[in-house]
Amino acid sequence: MALRAAAQGVSSRRSASGVEEHYAERASSSILLVYDGRRLEPGLERILLSTLERAYADLAQDFGSGPVEKIVVVVYAERDFQASTLAPAWADGVFDGRVRVPARGITGVTPELLSVLKHEMTHSFVHFRAKGRAPTWLQEGLAQVEEGKSSAPSASALAGAYAARGTFALSSLEGGFTGFSAAQARGSYAVSLAAVEMLKDTRGFGAVAHLLDRLGEGLGVEEAMRETLRADYARLESDLADWLRRRAR
Ligand SMILES: [Zn+2]
Repeated sequence: MALRAAAQGVSSRRSASGVEEHYAERASSSILLVYDGRRLEPGLERILLSTLERAYADLAQDFGSGPVEKIVVVVYAERDFQASTLAPAWADGVFDGRVRVPARGITGVTPELLSVLKHEMTHSFVHFRAKGRAPTWLQEGLAQVEEGKSSAPSASALAGAYAARGTFALSSLEGGFTGFSAAQARGSYAVSLAAVEMLKDTRGFGAVAHLLDRLGEGLGVEEAMRETLRADYARLESDLADWLRRRAR
């Protein structure tokens, strides 16, 4: 299962290992692509950049606006990705101020690579709008929605878990997932996706974008939720349980 991490404590520093020093760069109006020119197939950087531009345009349409600065996307050779990002083993991309993805022997833009890129670029949009203050469940839910994932396959399992425990424990998912085991991460990503899909469905994407803006202005998570979604955590969870039960049928 493809999972993508959003590192806490975002910074736009270069990787500590210095592997990017010999990397080549190629820029468009909104993207700076940084890549290992010796290992990427010739011509692929051009294809990658236009793919990134299209993904950026899709995101800008949903979010209404994008980051002021260019989004930096670093494409690593596989072993460089592990060395540079210290990403958990289950992550296949990272956003820490820059989008960092491993090129697993790619010769073209596969649907899998496109979904990783779109996922990580969403983190960049969310980071910009909420000024780094969005809870992780909201970040990861939005990133998965934008990469095209659906919570339909996990709807009945999630509804069952809520029926058994009486909570989704969403408020415990405000911090990062990077310390989680693969199984914990899988469950946390699933409930994050469902929560954001439900909000998009019942409140609209505009309300979720407005939530990001209010978080960016410094409001607390529940305060911003009450104002933009007419919900605190308890209400959000009961709405989510109802929504999942309808979908699980
Ligand atoms: Zn993510």
